[in-house]
Amino acid sequence: MKIGFIGLGRMGQGMALNLQKSGVDLCVFDLNPAAVKTLTDAGAKSATSVAELASQVDVLFTSLPGPVQVEEVILGPQGVMAHMRSGLVLFELSTSSLSLARRIHAAFQERGADMLDAPVSGGPAGAASGDLALWIGGDKAVFEQHLKLLRSIGDKASHVGPIGSGTVAKLSHNLLGYMFLGSMAEVFSMATKAGMDPLDLWEAMRLGMVGRGSPMNMLVNQFMPGKYEPAAFAMKLAHKDVALATAMAKELGVPMRLANMTLEEMTEAMARGFGEQDSRAYMKLQLERAGVSIEVEPQRLKEAVARYS
Ligand code: NAD
Repeated sequence: MKIGFIGLGRMGQGMALNLQKSGVDLCVFDLNPAAVKTLTDAGAKSATSVAELASQVDVLFTSLPGPVQVEEVILGPQGVMAHMRSGLVLFELSTSSLSLARRIHAAFQERGADMLDAPVSGGPAGAASGDLALWIGGDKAVFEQHLKLLRSIGDKASHVGPIGSGTVAKLSHNLLGYMFLGSMAEVFSMATKAGMDPLDLWEAMRLGMVGRGSPMNMLVNQFMPGKYEPAAFAMKLAHKDVALATAMAKELGVPMRLANMTLEEMTEAMARGFGEQDSRAYMKLQLERAGVSIEVEPQRLKEAVARYS
């Protein structure tokens, strides 16, 4: 089986080197000759163009900057689809767009080839060490057939759903991370302006409910099963805490955009009569606006939680 890799940048280089180390027959391409040389020095073959590479390989990985390059390299006139063998399996490792992943998948299906979106998380250090998550969307049987290959790139390669699910997981993950950082900037600016040492605050919060566990744990008892009664901590008390904190910020003259939005959400939840429900009950307002409901079956939830404890 011949393996191809296009895009040997900060992420691609480590991943391709790990594939090469696993002993596969690897051929690579990148616009940057220095990046190609690192791989050929390690024993990989190289192609002179995307088209030449695509015409030779059975399995192809792409790790490109974003949707513009992905579209050009895969669907462009000199791209993969125009020159691939039938039966090619493409794992698209770039962080790209959901609609593009679905479009490439549909076009490949028509040509008797397969595509799975497989964005990664772990940074260049993880790509180099193999301590890397790959969130893979697409045909589960194809994922399983290539599991050994995928695990040589990332020890946490997992199938997360139909085509596009990898991209949804990756974009959701990164969005959440940056929303957290924005919230933390607000909270730390408020506490620092109140005279607190930022490292003392960091340590204090590290020991509290929020700081000591994964934020994912905050969803387990109420939001995931959609069960807000009986309350572990009442909505009306959470509303009081957020009202006190935003009032303190106002006294200190600190602008708190996200905090004030949270207070508004909680005030609306109180007005809706959720005061005696659990403090997470205000999250239902966003579910309503989005027109979705989340009620994970308790046994499935218990099994998933057990996998991570
Ligand atoms: P990068 O810019 O370092 O690497 C991209 C590589 O693609 C470069 O070597 C470039 O020469 C090559 N390339 C661009 N256009 C090409 C073309 N038309 N044909 C052939 N090669 C081409 O980017 P990166 O940091 O390695 O990121 C790659 C992907 O992984 C991105 O989608 C990024 O969002 C994602 N990602 C990055 C990180 C990170 O920490 N760097 C972490 C997770 C995911």
